[in-house]
Amino acid sequence: DAELGPAHPRWIRVNSLKSTVDEQLDTTFKGFEMVPTVEEVMASASTGKKVICLDGNVPNLIAASPGVDFTRTAAYKSGAIILQDKASCFPAYLLDPRPEDGDIIDACSAPGNKTTHLAGILHERGFAEGRRIFAFEKDKHRAKTLNKMVRAAGSDKVTVIRAGADFLKTDPNSPEFRGVGALLLDPSCSGSGIVGRDDTPEFHLPSAVSSTTSNNTTTSKNLKRKRPPSPPPAVLVDDDGAETVVSSEQALQSRLKALASFQLAILLHALAFPAATKVSYSTCSIHAVENEAVVLAALHSPLARARGWRVLARDQQVRGMREWPVRGDIESCDGDAVVAGACVRAQREDGRGVMGFFVACFVRDDTTIVGGD
Ligand code: SAM
Repeated sequence: DAELGPAHPRWIRVNSLKSTVDEQLDTTFKGFEMVPTVEEVMASASTGKKVICLDGNVPNLIAASPGVDFTRTAAYKSGAIILQDKASCFPAYLLDPRPEDGDIIDACSAPGNKTTHLAGILHERGFAEGRRIFAFEKDKHRAKTLNKMVRAAGSDKVTVIRAGADFLKTDPNSPEFRGVGALLLDPSCSGSGIVGRDDTPEFHLPSAVSSTTSNNTTTSKNLKRKRPPSPPPAVLVDDDGAETVVSSEQALQSRLKALASFQLAILLHALAFPAATKVSYSTCSIHAVENEAVVLAALHSPLARARGWRVLARDQQVRGMREWPVRGDIESCDGDAVVAGACVRAQREDGRGVMGFFVACFVRDDTTIVGGD
């Protein structure tokens, strides 16, 4: 897609439950030329060369030439590699799950990219005996896909799938969850950051998505902006069935508001788990209302204040996330540079070859994880 700039690379996460990067370099990527940057991988779209580069931010991640079909490879079929956009790998990596975190909840799991990523990271670190990943998925149909993916990735032994279960209806104080130390939240969102989706025009980008703590700053100001033709009107239906014709911009704002209130509810629910000390919150949306605004509202909530939740500041993040230059929108963070710096963003048009994405992590100190059952 010309509007997306250079062709999007194929991002491949090597599933550490089943393989290693070295093994994949010798097999799936045999014959590919190794190049040092993702820019060169994207440029290979015009030369037809088959190239790869090892990602510098996320461990076990490889960028390969656009257009190469990996779905026919033995590694894909066996679950040794997983096709997952770089930005979509940020949440599990930023959450930094460790055996001492106890049980983990993935609150919104299907199709399971982040559930299996959590399992892969824990596998490398040594999964503590008896610990589990609870994977909630409200939609029964999507839960079937989750089940398949978890099995294919070899993470079924440590994952307890809650098919059809609404995370918002779980009781955080249930004995079953008393050992949950970390939660990953990746709730439904507008999907406006997804590559190839054009229902969100560029002019909805936050006005100043910028790095607050690094000289290596990315702003949205230097991105090419293109105003699309006037969108058609839309119809909003209220609770009584009354219809109102609104502009598609009004319909979008109304949809975003509803999504943001659902996203905040999920986040606050997660912050209530008694033994939790880490919670990541992510969306594949580019809208501040679903991102920084939700983080800020949660931070200012009585619950977060009472329980000592704060954002995981940039300088405390895992190396690859600390070094990632694109950060939150400082205006949407009420001018709070620490919160904006803690927010990790990805932009789909900035030449880094990723989808539009957002993630922030909440942490608190004063908890002892109690034994799971
Ligand atoms: N984390 C997934 C991945 O990386 O593969 C993608 C998750 S998708 C953005 C959001 C998912 O959350 C959808 O499958 C949706 O059905 C599910 N969901 C939405 N509300 C939920 C709730 N209250 N409880 C559990 N799952 C929910």
